Amino acid sequence: MPEGDTVHKLARGLRSRLEDERLAGLWLREQGAIDALAGARVREVAALGKHLLVALAPRGGGPDRVLHVHLGMNGRWRRVEPGARRGGGERLRIETEKDGFACLRAPVAQLLRRVELPGHPALARLGPDLLAGELDLAVVVARARRRDPRTVADLLLDQTVACGLGNVYKSELLFLERLAPRASPRALADERLAALYRRGRELLLANLGGWRRTTTRPVRAGEPWPAGMPRLWVYERHGQPCLRCGALVGVERQGDLARPTYWCPRCQASG
Ligand SMILES: [Zn+2]
Repeated sequence: MPEGDTVHKLARGLRSRLEDERLAGLWLREQGAIDALAGARVREVAALGKHLLVALAPRGGGPDRVLHVHLGMNGRWRRVEPGARRGGGERLRIETEKDGFACLRAPVAQLLRRVELPGHPALARLGPDLLAGELDLAVVVARARRRDPRTVADLLLDQTVACGLGNVYKSELLFLERLAPRASPRALADERLAALYRRGRELLLANLGGWRRTTTRPVRAGEPWPAGMPRLWVYERHGQPCLRCGALVGVERQGDLARPTYWCPRCQASG
């Protein structure tokens, strides 16, 4: 599932192939081929939480345009041959002379004017990116206090507080910080909230390599994974023994979207 680490890795990959290149073609399902951007230079590829932004400078001047993509639950990118026939489910195709990338099943793939970004209904409300070069945890805690959601599980998914965490990290963080998913953020001291987001940043940063996501141990590229060792503490491990205490991992659905939270009732009794 794409969370902040996935999108930052994706941005890094696209950046290496696209930045400073000129567009040979840009196609969006809703608009068809965008001829006005033929020859545009890819000025920047950036990730902001789970959002991907590609800034385009039109050939011959004119204001920058920005491609905005959010992969949602099921969206993904695929490398394609430039000029290859479009497949089903394609939302967006971006091509240079040498490379082609197709975005499939993304719920958001739109072309914006750069001046629209500060007032954009989703982008303008985002909290600090947990993978940003610098992170002020006091700002994140202050934003959390203003939002005041019912449970700490809902809080972690709230991208207006801090962005980058999704459903996998939500469960893993609550386990590592020994917090019950239904705990009220109001009952948590500022230091406890800051610790949650600090660890969230650490987990995201530790997963920026090319390997599969893990929270159970640090991984270095090329290092073999121990046989039988789960990569995650609780996520999708319901009905299996907790790796710490042996109690059965449970699952419950919370929030407006009823996203599942996996947790150990014994390790996470607090809050
Ligand atoms: Zn346990």
